[in-house]
Amino acid sequence: MGLRTVKQYKESLKDGREVYMYGEKVKDVTTHRALKTCVDTMALDYEAAELPKYKDLAIVFDPELGEEVSRYYYIPKTGEDLLKATDLIIEFTAYADGYIPLAKDIGADALNAIQITANMIGNKDYIDRINNFRKYLMKEDTAIVSAVTDVKGDRLLRPSDPKQVHPDFYVRVVDKNSKGIIVRGAKMHITGAAYSNEIFAIPCRAMTEQDKDYAVAFAIPCNTKGLKQICRPVKSEIGPMEFPCPRPLRMHTDSLIIFDDVLVPWERVFLCGEWQHAGLIALHFGLLHRRTGCAYRIPISEMFVGMAYAIAEYNGVLNVPHIREKLTDAAMYLQTLKALTRSACLDYVMHGGMPVPNPVTTNIGKYHFADKYHDLVKVIQDISGGSLITKPTYQDWQNPETHEYMKKYLSGKSGIPAEHRLRMYDLIRRWLASEYEVMVLHGEGSLMTQRMTILAEAKEELLRCKKIAEDIAGINP
Ligand SMILES: Cc1cc2nc3c(=O)[nH]c(=O)nc-3n(C[C@H](O)[C@H](O)[C@H](O)COP(=O)(O)OP(=O)(O)OC[C@H]3O[C@@H](n4cnc5c(N)ncnc54)[C@H](O)[C@@H]3O)c2cc1C
Repeated sequence: MGLRTVKQYKESLKDGREVYMYGEKVKDVTTHRALKTCVDTMALDYEAAELPKYKDLAIVFDPELGEEVSRYYYIPKTGEDLLKATDLIIEFTAYADGYIPLAKDIGADALNAIQITANMIGNKDYIDRINNFRKYLMKEDTAIVSAVTDVKGDRLLRPSDPKQVHPDFYVRVVDKNSKGIIVRGAKMHITGAAYSNEIFAIPCRAMTEQDKDYAVAFAIPCNTKGLKQICRPVKSEIGPMEFPCPRPLRMHTDSLIIFDDVLVPWERVFLCGEWQHAGLIALHFGLLHRRTGCAYRIPISEMFVGMAYAIAEYNGVLNVPHIREKLTDAAMYLQTLKALTRSACLDYVMHGGMPVPNPVTTNIGKYHFADKYHDLVKVIQDISGGSLITKPTYQDWQNPETHEYMKKYLSGKSGIPAEHRLRMYDLIRRWLASEYEVMVLHGEGSLMTQRMTILAEAKEELLRCKKIAEDIAGINP
């Protein structure tokens, strides 16, 4: 079949899958009021791949199949290949205005983790099965996500521990027959699963011999009998209080996936009982997926840094010393993430015959963006000021009785129309502003006002301390 179109992707989702959201069973995910936004977001992976400017990045000629295939499913052979796969994620996330399209990237992480593990343990059956499955993904250009995180029950107890309230907190094999294995359990937070074609399920941790029924990895179509998904709520459209935007809102939801005695055919089983190797799949998925995470955080962080710069400029405070310092921190956050992501690819290690992004650098990259993220948010909220949460709405902008007041009083620096400031506030608020966080920062005055007051009021005390130091240094006679 070759590379898919957006239309083919959307048609493929009308397959009788069992999905629930907002207390109802979803008839068709492509037309559902909330899920259609998510479907459109995932479809961007197919849409962007059709654009000539992304062709070299998105598509690779596979000599074995003799056809062009998605780079997501192409086996990387060098650090350059890793870098191109990373650039693909960065470009497509930028194309989706900071939302990861997600049709194939997380699935590809599980695909490669399974392949590396099969190669490392040298199991020919599993190597053949994953090779065949890869060819199927390449030929059909299938969307696939990864279900790794089990619901887990008591976190301190092993999956098979009899003290767990029941034995199904981690997905496990409950039966086997000539056709395949029967699995039961539940995975949680699985992004994009409601509008993917397939799901990889792999262990989320190392297993012991007692846990061997939980050492299972497989792939199944989303409409498999017994597979049920319950989605979390999403903001699926720009509401009436925000300025309408010509660029549609992008969004994903995550599913609680229940495997209610699901039959998985043998040819789709990639681990079954080999408890010693469960941790290897989980480890490699983590490594590959953290590189993916670093990649898609780059365009999102670019947007955040842009928000900080724009609102500083609109408010006329761009050249204030403490704002310049904060923008410097924001620039360092972004550049560190970019450098770590890139160097992790080039400084790769070989596992199971496949290049893997440098494990230490990748984990530092993921740690950096997550650990310092709240500092960046604080910078943006601080620069924005309290208007971020107290400004009137678009509905008031449209009301002739209040429009002119807003236009006059809510503009910023000369030349910056009120509408630009208000639109930027809408964007920042949509992504980053919890009302309470902003209230804490700006209620009773911004952080810098306290610092300035502290310095002024503590002057006498500082001079007294200076004298103490000078006395001890022998400066004052
Ligand atoms: C928006 C979103 C999207 C996601 N998408 C996916 C996806 O597509 N696929 C997927 O598989 N997963 C996905 N995840 C899941 C993600 O990987 C998990 O949330 C993460 O691994 C943490 O697991 P948890 O949420 O069960 O938290 P918990 O495991 O409950 O952790 C909560 C806290 O308890 C601590 N803790 C837990 N167990 C122990 C222990 N044994 N000893 C000491 N401390 C412990 C943790 O360190 C942490 O501080 C997603 C999560 C989110 C929020």
